[in-house]
Amino acid sequence: MADYVWTRQLGRARIAVITEGWGRWPLERGLAGVPEEQWRPEVEADHEDCIRLDLNVVHVALPGASILLDTGFGEVDPTDPARPVVGIRDITMTPGVEAGLATLGVRPADVTHVLFSHLHGDHVFGATRTVDGRRVPAFPRARYYVTAAEWRAAPEQHQRADLVQPQKDALEAAGVVELLDGEREVLPGVRLIPAAGESPGHAVVRVDTGDGIVYYLGDLFHQVAEFRHLDWMPRWRDRDTLVATRQRLLPRFVAERALLVIAHLRFPAVGRVEPAGDAYRWVPVEE
Ligand SMILES: [Zn+2]
Repeated sequence: MADYVWTRQLGRARIAVITEGWGRWPLERGLAGVPEEQWRPEVEADHEDCIRLDLNVVHVALPGASILLDTGFGEVDPTDPARPVVGIRDITMTPGVEAGLATLGVRPADVTHVLFSHLHGDHVFGATRTVDGRRVPAFPRARYYVTAAEWRAAPEQHQRADLVQPQKDALEAAGVVELLDGEREVLPGVRLIPAAGESPGHAVVRVDTGDGIVYYLGDLFHQVAEFRHLDWMPRWRDRDTLVATRQRLLPRFVAERALLVIAHLRFPAVGRVEPAGDAYRWVPVEE
């Protein structure tokens, strides 16, 4: 197995995490309004006060369905210094999502469902590709699922509208978008659950494997210190909404003893949460 792809079979599901790479993310963007004396002892920051940020997407193979959770960067090169995309420095890229899927025997045309946690660039740029000068869905046989609230809100002001809007336009023109309101079952055992705060229509994905529950949390958390401090989060987030969402969902993750996958934790970014004091603790799986 390639070293940028992690897999585990659970019940009827094969869960795969593919990392596109990692970089250094300045805390001035990654952590809003927390005094240095509070974060310094708890955050693993480098000499320029950056944290490591990984770029992970998830694939779920079920009998009769091939499901991609977020699409990563696709054709957008986040290492191009002339076009800074997400404020991440010194990005190291792996062969990427499509190559990672190929190691699993999954071709783009095999993907049946694409579910978005949200439409920030690092999650949506890979939704389309350019073919003969036209932008078309990168997964030509898939339906693309996102909350209606997210579709309305994107691109947000702090996002690259010039790169996000063309993704939406091309998906809409192809007639492949499915907008969801509320908690919805997309296919048997797979639910998109609204989890706002990171963005107006952010959602998490719950998969019932028949041998345990797996959640893909998208950007509900960006670093492990956020589990101990539910009000720690990057800039430009809706603080009250995100705190309420975390408080609503964390007890559910604990009660279900769920396996969790997170977009930007260190690959493979798979673990569980446990209650700890008046908050929670991240417990990574042994690899
Ligand atoms: Zn993200």
